Amino acid sequence: MSKRNLVVGIAVACAVSLCAQAVSKKAREIHNSAIVIDTHADTPQRFLDENYDIGSTDPKDPGHISLDKAKAGNLGAEFFSIWVEPETNQGHFARHTLDLIDSVYEQAARHPGRMMMAFSVADIEQAHREHKLAALLGIEGGHSIENDVRLLRDFYRLGVRYMTLSWSNTNEWADSSGDMNNAKVEHHNGLTEGGKQIVLEMNRLGMLVDISHVADKTFYDSIAVTKAPIIASHSGARALSNHPRNMTDDMLRAIAKNGGVVQVNFYNAFIDENYRKAEEAQKKDREAAVKAYTDQLKAAGKTVTYLDSDRIDREWAAKIPRPPLTSLIDHIDHIAKVAGVDHVGLGSDFDGVSGATPQGIDSAADLPKITQVLLDRGYSPDDIRKILGANLLRVFREAERVSHEMKAK
Ligand SMILES: [Zn+2]
Repeated sequence: MSKRNLVVGIAVACAVSLCAQAVSKKAREIHNSAIVIDTHADTPQRFLDENYDIGSTDPKDPGHISLDKAKAGNLGAEFFSIWVEPETNQGHFARHTLDLIDSVYEQAARHPGRMMMAFSVADIEQAHREHKLAALLGIEGGHSIENDVRLLRDFYRLGVRYMTLSWSNTNEWADSSGDMNNAKVEHHNGLTEGGKQIVLEMNRLGMLVDISHVADKTFYDSIAVTKAPIIASHSGARALSNHPRNMTDDMLRAIAKNGGVVQVNFYNAFIDENYRKAEEAQKKDREAAVKAYTDQLKAAGKTVTYLDSDRIDREWAAKIPRPPLTSLIDHIDHIAKVAGVDHVGLGSDFDGVSGATPQGIDSAADLPKITQVLLDRGYSPDDIRKILGANLLRVFREAERVSHEMKAK
């Protein structure tokens, strides 16, 4: 190929493969100098339901997380989400929580040279020095503790280091943003008195309080009562994408005042208003399709898992064009402007969004592309490292300090 043809060839390839998202040497260096922390991946369901091995090298595997993908993206620490689907696990939330926790430990045991369980800032730093993926645990949804503070403490002892006060379902002590419009659900106007005690017990234990998914009033109640900085493990900015799961500018300012951090969710419907509307428009048909499929499985006597509905959700998600990576970066930008660059980070929701991530982000291996766009937008290397993980480490360290203080009393 002549040089001219080569140039034309590259231009064509660029248009197809989003060459603009290629990562420069400088961006790669900044990215690799950071402890990169992601605070939300739903991979444990794959470990449990699919028998998925994180050491998988299958090039066709559609998952976002593997040890190879983590290494390629310099992912240093992952908070694995312990999410108990509240409908299918009625009556045994804690039991399923334990099964998911076990699934993460089993993966770490299988790959001791490349992955380690981590329970503290010091553990994350040690894993980084040893070039291992630090695996942390975060419970997604207060229903897991079955209204029992003793179970909360047991989960802490097993290594759980954050708990999302509610998932999309309101529980006995915290309202969720996911069902505020459902009159059949009994709401509490935010956190109950018992819920406030749970937040304080989390502070005392050193478990991060996570307000992703909660109703707005639950957020304000939590921020009023907590003694430690809080996190949103996987949330976006409502000013850009009008989803009740996302945070208003007023909430972002409250997080800044509290010293906490908002870890930006990568899910297309939370980061791109056009995608959100398109997804909302297909909701009825999509849910009907999921129901028809799972009913069929149930009639055949099969157990229905998250993966079954995920399969249908993926087909529907594929009908809507993926937004550009810049939609995701716009959320980081917005939160950095409103709350400050010390209060924003990454909470991908990898393996929990039916593949609906922005263009160019197909797995953890693509994380350096985020650094590239931040660099293009003028962020300094120090600020980029804060966003990639240092902010979360600061908040975690402060939660550890508050815990020591409270335990000493
Ligand atoms: Zn979630």
